[in-house]
Amino acid sequence: MKGAPVVPPIYMTATYQFKDSDELIDVVQNRSGYIYSRWDNPSVVEVEKRMAALERYEYALGFSSGMAAITTTIFSQLRKDSRIVGMREVYGGTFQLLYNFLPKLGIGTVDVSCSEMDRILAEIEKGLSVLYLETPTNPLLRVVDVKTLADAAHAKCAPVILDSTFASPVNQRPKELGVDIVIHSATKYLGGHHDITAGFVCCNEEHFHSIWEYRKIFGGVMDPMTAFLILRGLKTLQLRVEKQNENAMIVADFLEKQKKIDAVFYPGLTSHPDHEIAVRQMKGFGGMLSFLVAANFDGTKKFMDHLKFIKLATSLGGVTSLANQPITNTHAALNPAERAKAGIKENLVRFSVGIEDPNLLKQDIQQALAVVK
Ligand SMILES: *Cc1c(COP(=O)(O)O)cnc(C)c1O
Repeated sequence: MKGAPVVPPIYMTATYQFKDSDELIDVVQNRSGYIYSRWDNPSVVEVEKRMAALERYEYALGFSSGMAAITTTIFSQLRKDSRIVGMREVYGGTFQLLYNFLPKLGIGTVDVSCSEMDRILAEIEKGLSVLYLETPTNPLLRVVDVKTLADAAHAKCAPVILDSTFASPVNQRPKELGVDIVIHSATKYLGGHHDITAGFVCCNEEHFHSIWEYRKIFGGVMDPMTAFLILRGLKTLQLRVEKQNENAMIVADFLEKQKKIDAVFYPGLTSHPDHEIAVRQMKGFGGMLSFLVAANFDGTKKFMDHLKFIKLATSLGGVTSLANQPITNTHAALNPAERAKAGIKENLVRFSVGIEDPNLLKQDIQQALAVVK
């Protein structure tokens, strides 16, 4: 038949057949082809190549979730008595792994805040096995100076891992900042439509084989259908994120002018504590922001419940705008002391800005604020 498909097929196969035993032996010994989809699958490889090119690394690996990517990568770097330098403001699941699970195995993570640069540098100076960073952070959008920290870690021969989910490959270039291993929850901007759960790791030859082996054994591999949906999502990534950057800036400016809003956290605002680092480090300020409603918990809850257009939901990065009150879901597990330490107030609202007409977003916020006393 003449004419080739513009869109590659979805290889819904768990296993692969060989013409004879010699061919099979060659594939098993030399990884010269496909053998089993927990190892590799052509649809997943297709999206991995695209992802590696986007982040400008030699390789990318697809995972079943962002957390599968994070746990597999961290375990691939751990040895007996490893010492991790991390930061307290990491994603909730990562926080559990670093500060609750790994200590059970005798592996400690230094507990520092990303706002204490001098302390992080001092901890790196003491020696480390891994530097684990995340920027911008959830939900206060702190921006960490990656280059400075990566240089310090490299001087101690430690690899640098960065969760770059909030920035997406459009707004941040981890490779240029000296990051060795980049992680994304593809559930967010890369998928972009709130319909899949997935993750990626991007890295060079040096780390690829080890992470690949750990993925094969831990088993959190991406499935072919998800790979196809991400491949489709990536075609509009640039357009979507540019529009989200634009919308978020409009909404942040609008919120700053409201009497019933106490504070707005968005790296694009000159009032943001890390605005200068963000200008230097990022290509765009992103589609995430958070703000404090001038109300107590109940007043903020009432504001949330009166949003008509913006959906009350966790997660982020998709074309549809979502908002939530971190204290009720993403940060519900923290006790009041931990919450205070993390700066999570009862009137804090996190907003993932979509690609809708920004006037609709402003109108919705305005009418919901009207119910706040
Ligand atoms: C959502 C998220 C994760 C976890 O990803 P899942 O796909 O939900 O497993 C990790 N890091 C960040 C910054 C996230 O936003």
